[in-house]
Amino acid sequence: MIPPSNSTGSPPGRTPTDHLTPERDMTHRHFEAGDHVVVIKGVAGGELWGDAMRIVAPSWHTPTNENGWRLRDATGGDQSYVTAHPRYLVHLTRRCPDCVIYLRAMEDHLLPKTHERSSLIDFGWYTVTSLGQLVHVADARSGR
Ligand SMILES: [Zn+2]
Repeated sequence: MIPPSNSTGSPPGRTPTDHLTPERDMTHRHFEAGDHVVVIKGVAGGELWGDAMRIVAPSWHTPTNENGWRLRDATGGDQSYVTAHPRYLVHLTRRCPDCVIYLRAMEDHLLPKTHERSSLIDFGWYTVTSLGQLVHVADARSGR
């Protein structure tokens, strides 16, 4: 599938826009405590790259006012715990269709734009608030 060219207005060679994650229809129940998940944040060496984390407990995601999940990032340092919306998360340990479809779509969207670059690229789609809420750029805009 070929994504519509520049429909989001980002010029070629610049940071790709992530329009897939905000449109993802992912329920809170799809995940449970103990699941290993990843938040896709960029690419590295021609593959998707992100932060691998473990789900700890249900937690309110204040930027979207919806049910979220508290996550533990073993390499997070000061930011070891964040709360994320379910649609940011992808199962690492289970090959479930919902998550695989999303990963394939992200690969089709991102890898053709970045395959010539071998270094790690963080696209900067996510920020963490002072209260430890992980926010996608699309939710940060709509929440204000
Ligand atoms: Zn899944």
